[in-house]
Amino acid sequence: MQNQKGHVIVLTYPAQGHINPLLQFAKRLASKGLKATLATTHYTVKSIHETSVGVEPISDGYDESGFKQASSVQAYLDSFKTVGSRTLSELILKFSASGSPVNCIVYDSLLPWAIDVAKKFNIYGAVFLTNSASVCSMYLHIIHGHLAFPVKQETEPLLMPGLPPLALSELPSFLSQPAPHSPYLALILEKFSSLEENNWVFCNSFEELESELVKEMLGLWPLVMIGPMVPSSYLDQEIEGDTDYGANLWKPTTDQCMKWLEKKPPESVIYISFGSMADIAAKQVEEIAWGLKASNQNFLWAVKEPKTKLPDEFLSSIGETGLVVTWCNQLEVLAHQAVGYFITHCGWNSTLEGLSLGVPMVAMPQWSDQPTNAKFVEELWGVGVKVKKNEEGIVSREELEMCIREVMVGEISGQIKKNSLKWREAAKKAVSIGGTSDDNINEFILKLLSG
Ligand code: UDP
Repeated sequence: MQNQKGHVIVLTYPAQGHINPLLQFAKRLASKGLKATLATTHYTVKSIHETSVGVEPISDGYDESGFKQASSVQAYLDSFKTVGSRTLSELILKFSASGSPVNCIVYDSLLPWAIDVAKKFNIYGAVFLTNSASVCSMYLHIIHGHLAFPVKQETEPLLMPGLPPLALSELPSFLSQPAPHSPYLALILEKFSSLEENNWVFCNSFEELESELVKEMLGLWPLVMIGPMVPSSYLDQEIEGDTDYGANLWKPTTDQCMKWLEKKPPESVIYISFGSMADIAAKQVEEIAWGLKASNQNFLWAVKEPKTKLPDEFLSSIGETGLVVTWCNQLEVLAHQAVGYFITHCGWNSTLEGLSLGVPMVAMPQWSDQPTNAKFVEELWGVGVKVKKNEEGIVSREELEMCIREVMVGEISGQIKKNSLKWREAAKKAVSIGGTSDDNINEFILKLLSG
């Protein structure tokens, strides 16, 4: 039975990599007896099929097709702030009037204005960080002046508490880019300069994964680790039903993928995806295609516009060795016994998914936090290898082929497999009863219910 004292609105930015962890968090709260409502934009609501939580639209000012309608990222974010604040307030009033008052807003860190709405109604406010704690700590170092912005090329690696030495190219790309800066960066820095305004700061990670950092930063920020936010049945086979995040901005090709995978031997397939946002240059795509082909391994490649993106000659040459789809249920694919390896752009969700499902990775970062995640995949957690770019900034087909070989049969492949299984167990433990993340969520609920 749902507890009438606890009603949480979980507000997400309308991108797949944000909807997934925030919707999963809403589902987790609902599974523990709270009433949880996911709020997102009008055109995104249509893509959500999850039924254990309520789903309500608010407006970003572009109700027909959202972001694409806006003249620029900045125009979109400005409109979302103004119209979103108003419509979120209206939603809270609607719930009060219907006898289901909201007592907490958990909001995506890309929507920092939501804390003002929480304050206006005198209810709890909690920010949900969709990056790793390590990446978040770098933004904090900028705010506190421990790291000069934009970070410049140093001859020596950068040293920050709780983190391994990092080269400039291993920092989140926003931090090293010269002006003009990404509008997203302004939002991120705004958020990190006022973390103390929140009653909770949630991070989609787990304490064991970033233990050194958590230890070093203790007392400096009120971080609460609640991840990995991956549907429960992938972490614990005994839990049935929670097999999907519950939202797809693109139509998955599940039957086609599963049928094809069924015919492949265990751990023989490389799954390759660059997430929902990366736009890979044609020249790079070509190198990936021919690198895959040269590896002579089975592969399943999710690429949104295969016909325009992939070389015709490649598409007509792959036969039964490869399957190219526009979008898939990534978790279902990664969890399939035929899939043994994951070539990933290292978006934070994909990284957590590979890690939580114990799938060794070839890390091929593009932008944002991905270079840092890729570095950690290889060096900190030892669950994969990271590709190297050539002087043109491209990963050559030879390099990709070599990395595939290294992760599959190279000298360190055995250790990578062992580490992958170790982290899979650690992820499962963190979210199971008595685990660090589960305890943190329970504590939050307890506080919420106590007034
Ligand atoms: N995803 C998916 N199918 C695909 C590609 C990606 O379901 O074909 C999901 C993936 O499981 C992950 C999310 O989309 O949860 C992408 O988030 P991530 O942080 O990895 O990357 P982003 O898209 O934000 O760059």
